Amino acid sequence: MDCPICGSDDIEILNSKQKTTKKKFTEEYLLKCEDCGHVYKNVISLKKPRPYRLIISEQDKSHKTTIDLSPSDELKTGDTLLTELGQVEVTSIEVGDKRVDKSNLEDVTTIWASSVEIPARIGFSVDLHGEVDSYKLDLERDFEIAPGDVVKIENHIVKVHVIKTQERKLTSGFAKAGVIKRVYSKPVRFNSYDYDLTKNIFKKTKKSD
Ligand SMILES: [Zn+2]
Repeated sequence: MDCPICGSDDIEILNSKQKTTKKKFTEEYLLKCEDCGHVYKNVISLKKPRPYRLIISEQDKSHKTTIDLSPSDELKTGDTLLTELGQVEVTSIEVGDKRVDKSNLEDVTTIWASSVEIPARIGFSVDLHGEVDSYKLDLERDFEIAPGDVVKIENHIVKVHVIKTQERKLTSGFAKAGVIKRVYSKPVRFNSYDYDLTKNIFKKTKKSD
């Protein structure tokens, strides 16, 4: 859509019209170049979306579904797609009997993706002097936990003192649940807390050390 006169990409859309035929979706733009003032038309024509085979892996399961995409578009690994099963990230693209990282959708046979909406499962330990209440929690992947947070979990009110992520141990800052492996906490004598994780418990085990 760059200006055909001066090549600028600083373009204002004055007007746009959409037309849909059986096979195509056409968008006609009236554009004005902000640099040289040239007014011109641009027509974008896309093939109408059709269903593509999509396989979504989620933890140890996989789901077969379809997604409607325009064959005019390009797809590459790492792209995010919004599906019936939530947001997914493209992990592989099958064209014929080959796997590629990038392709025009026209040629694609199957799209492989992994779910990015599944909750993060993290460990949460409550140190009870000699015994540990160990939980598995399911949290939104972008839920933030910081050392120093005061948390309610069942009948405990605890303070987070260390967060172990995939890469390091944190005693300050914060981490998102998506990268946390385990949170270590100790009971505190507070009556108030920052948040309650009781409803996020997936499993509880008691350990003595
Ligand atoms: Zn221009």
